[in-house]
Amino acid sequence: VEEALRQAQKMEAVGQLASGVAHDFNNVLQIISSNLQLMELDGVNSLLAARLASAVAAVERGSKLSSQLLAFARRQPLQPVPTHLGDLLAEMESLLARALGDRVEIALEGAADLWNVEVDRNQLENAILNMAINARDAMGGEGRLRIGLSNARPGGAPGGEQVCLSMTDSGCGMPPEVLAKIFDPFYTTKAPGKGTGLGMSMVYGFVKQSGGEIRIESRAGQGTTIRIYLPRSHGAALQAGSSAGISVHGAG
Ligand code: ADP
Repeated sequence: VEEALRQAQKMEAVGQLASGVAHDFNNVLQIISSNLQLMELDGVNSLLAARLASAVAAVERGSKLSSQLLAFARRQPLQPVPTHLGDLLAEMESLLARALGDRVEIALEGAADLWNVEVDRNQLENAILNMAINARDAMGGEGRLRIGLSNARPGGAPGGEQVCLSMTDSGCGMPPEVLAKIFDPFYTTKAPGKGTGLGMSMVYGFVKQSGGEIRIESRAGQGTTIRIYLPRSHGAALQAGSSAGISVHGAG
């Protein structure tokens, strides 16, 4: 509980900082970007063109980071709906395959009588994609990602009936010191410009906000299993595919 509180406070502080900074930062980047475009229009020699191109790439990285910061800070209100995770994953299959590349084998293992969960579908899709990309990076682009679904009734936990989504990768795993910091905003072991360190803290915030739990098992050199538990819904999920076109977007 203390750990959850510490994490929530950290998220809150970083969220406030982020929303304050990201807007101004974006304006600055806009100015740099339009000036770079003007210089390109003026016509430059090849040496300058190469330097301009790397400046443009840096500006793009900066604006990607700041939009991730904004998304992180904005913390859009959840719109939970009864969802069948088997259907959701089936819909995501080609997206996941593209994100992981063809040297990563994806194994989907769903339960036949899976309960529905009460969850914001878009944000869950983002979380799954985030974790899949981490898995791909941990596997060096080659390996196996197993995604499992099962009904879970945690032993006497107040959370009650839940559905467990597990993702097991055959990647490099994590030593305890990385595992201890994985949910910290901005904690990354990836090369500068590659990781933002916001992925898993967003996943954590989303799962907690959804009334769920997240558990990670990992050992250096032995791969990683992430389990997300989401509360059961007693409502009926929409038929797969039928939600297209009638999804409601909140105003803020
Ligand atoms: P980022 O992906 O930008 O680094 P994350 O918050 O998503 O940020 O992840 C933080 C760190 O946790 C990663 O840099 C990596 O060291 C570690 N990590 C996350 N997922 C995995 C995984 N599946 N296997 C090994 N390490 C992981």
